[in-house]
Amino acid sequence: MNKKLFVERVQNYIGGTWRDSANPEHVPVHNPATGELLGSVPMGSARDVDAAVAAAKAAFPAWRELTAQARARYLFALREKMEQHYDELLEICTEEHGKTLEESKGDVRRGVDNVEVACGMPTLMMNAGSVLDQIASGIDSTAIRQPMGVFAIIAPYNFPSMVPFWFLPYAIATGNTVVVKPSEQVPFSQVRLFQLLDEIGLPPGVVNMVHGARDVVNGILEHQDIAGVSFVGSSPVAEHVYARCGATQKRVQALGGAKNFGVVLDDCDWDKTVANVVDSSMGCAGQRCLALSVVIGVGKAYAELERRLPEALAKVKVGYGVEPGVTMGPVISARHKERVASYLEKGVAEGAKLVVDGRSLRVGAHPRGHFLGPSLFTGVRPEMTIAREEIFGPVLCLMQAKDLDEALRIVKAHPLANASSIFTSHGGHARRYCRDVDAAMVGVNIGVAAPMAYFGFGGAKGSFFGDLKAHGREQIQFYTQTKTSIVRWW
Ligand code: NAD
Repeated sequence: MNKKLFVERVQNYIGGTWRDSANPEHVPVHNPATGELLGSVPMGSARDVDAAVAAAKAAFPAWRELTAQARARYLFALREKMEQHYDELLEICTEEHGKTLEESKGDVRRGVDNVEVACGMPTLMMNAGSVLDQIASGIDSTAIRQPMGVFAIIAPYNFPSMVPFWFLPYAIATGNTVVVKPSEQVPFSQVRLFQLLDEIGLPPGVVNMVHGARDVVNGILEHQDIAGVSFVGSSPVAEHVYARCGATQKRVQALGGAKNFGVVLDDCDWDKTVANVVDSSMGCAGQRCLALSVVIGVGKAYAELERRLPEALAKVKVGYGVEPGVTMGPVISARHKERVASYLEKGVAEGAKLVVDGRSLRVGAHPRGHFLGPSLFTGVRPEMTIAREEIFGPVLCLMQAKDLDEALRIVKAHPLANASSIFTSHGGHARRYCRDVDAAMVGVNIGVAAPMAYFGFGGAKGSFFGDLKAHGREQIQFYTQTKTSIVRWW
């Protein structure tokens, strides 16, 4: 591990300076693969939020006055910094989260992607407005989009580098100022990214970062000077964020949890489908909001999956994500490992068959790591806890349906609808699935249906609270409000 990439005691970044939290309570952060101490993170407080919002509020008037092009130039500089420090960012991501270096590439790269899209803000903002001359005799009308003030960004632990960057580049490029609250479980990627933000010379207060947990989130939700909140995390917290933002009159986009279903028809390309299902369910040790966690084998496809999956799962190599050949890292913490393991017990108790049990796996070189091997349940029914609740670990549930109608009924009955995939070579079945399924991110022969930075990212039903999704053009709408002028010259 490159110790130099970590700071011993994480500080907040407020008004262009690094400062200690007002709350002296710090908790240690360990590498989940090796158990090594990486540093400590403050638990934070509403006072930290007050200081950061005051700095962001003070910076807003001058920042909104800059041209969109001048603001975009900072993002061009940031993009260069991120490229220069790309390998470091991968290393930090793997060390603090546990995902493999290969998986960290996806995490860091998507952050860069969003910066690149936001670099086009002059044109994007121009296209988000509208003009019509002669709306009445001698009168023209224009609708422009204007920034609103201070936005807060609250992130989960599973993509330490990327998730805040689904929001930050768009929020500042449209002329707002921001306060970011990273996950307290993985603070270091954002610390490094804020060091890079510091180096590009943004005016103080345009970007701020407050570390901590629940008290910081609640401080944000109750703050009167915050115009809106972008949140990503579990559904119960997303719902709480959405409700409080409604009560305190803030804009909100709250992306919640997932229980993603894949449907496999027996006309699929079997080798590719199985590889996709394994990568999707086990990648990042199952801690992806786009992970397929239930796969429905339609008709004869069920038996084929039952036969092929154990063999494919046996090839997953679990270990420390910096080591060559490792394809799956640990889960984030001992507590989370226990939680995932408790679902294995529940599944067995409710009558599913645990044909691959990852609990016995040991990674000899790293006895303090929170490792679990892949697990596979067959004979899963929709009413079982393992089919209803988000497990967020390397556990795959296999279910059977007699036809596509039944598969669709099962998928649509679930209250969460983040992502879903179908594997088939039949265009008509694929089309029908894409149109009828409730999930808002749909893959055809793709296991991880991840929209690129220029397409909206976010789910539906209980997986998303709000209207406008993350990424791209929808962010411009979220971070700005329209002003319509009706103009007559005598
Ligand atoms: P989490 O909900 O526990 O935490 C998310 C954020 O909320 C963190 O910053 C945390 O400090 C804060 N928080 C936690 N509990 C809180 C509470 N009671 N009150 C106020 N704030 C609180 O989520 P997590 O465990 O960090 O991340 C995993 C979850 O995020 C999974 O459910 C996953 O599906 C979801 N997720 C969703 C998406 C998406 O695009 N929909 C993307 C990534 C992760």
